[in-house]
Amino acid sequence: MQSRVALVTGGTGGIGTSIIKRLAAAGHKVATNYRDEGRARAWQEKMKAEGVDVAMAQGDVTSPEQAEAMVRDIERQLGPIEILVNNAGITRDTTFHRMKPDQWNDVICTNLNSVYNVTRPVIEGMRERKWGRIIQISSINGLKGQYGQANYAAAKAGMHGFTISLARENARLGITVNTISPGYVATDMVMAVPEEVRAKIVADIPTGRLGEPDEIAYAVAFLTDDQAGWITGSNLDINGGHHMGW
Ligand code: NDP
Repeated sequence: MQSRVALVTGGTGGIGTSIIKRLAAAGHKVATNYRDEGRARAWQEKMKAEGVDVAMAQGDVTSPEQAEAMVRDIERQLGPIEILVNNAGITRDTTFHRMKPDQWNDVICTNLNSVYNVTRPVIEGMRERKWGRIIQISSINGLKGQYGQANYAAAKAGMHGFTISLARENARLGITVNTISPGYVATDMVMAVPEEVRAKIVADIPTGRLGEPDEIAYAVAFLTDDQAGWITGSNLDINGGHHMGW
């Protein structure tokens, strides 16, 4: 397989780190963004010690200007971006009747506006070169909804509309656009959920366990493969069978 340049937003997080490692193991040059330089450099050193070189550029993905500057910085370091994984995300859970404007806006901006902000400066180069892989990391809750997550479910559902529209616009240009919808994966985001709530969630998952970050990363590597060129506008549910019988 040809070596490509891959940008994974939120690459320092639980799922992002696994995606970075998988794409590096597939022979790609990998990059991510950061907000806090100190934490980012420590993470970069840890990756290096594990044999993974990661290019890094500062950029908050909620800002169109910072996202574009981050993309240009990565391109200067590694070359044109050929694989983009829109993975950065947050939750600010509360029931809708208690939800403050900040809780709504922060989640929509980080999970959905970011997809515009980062994809926009990347897509023109992909169109010119007639090759690209774009993946959105959505969520099972963007498809089935979740108590206390009207903001998050709205943002993640928005990713699906974005994916299938962008897939249509670019299908003849060698660019595939897909969504992955993970179920509950054992990262800080999920481990922050109270234990009794987590136990109820696990009881509902047919496989009887949370997912591992690498099980999501495996699907990213699959969709970005040279041989996955006929998979576009798709969503992959990866959730231990949790999507069955909603
Ligand atoms: P983490 O909290 O571990 O990582 C999130 C990453 O996003 C961090 O690197 C964080 O960087 C980055 N990030 C957040 N906000 C911004 C911002 N404004 N600008 C730039 N970077 C930002 O989350 P996970 O690894 O668990 O989740 C990754 C993705 O998977 C998310 O989109 C999430 O919604 C989705 N997902 C996760 C599931 C799970 O069970 N964990 C289930 C379904 C979907 P920083 O260190 O600067 O905060």
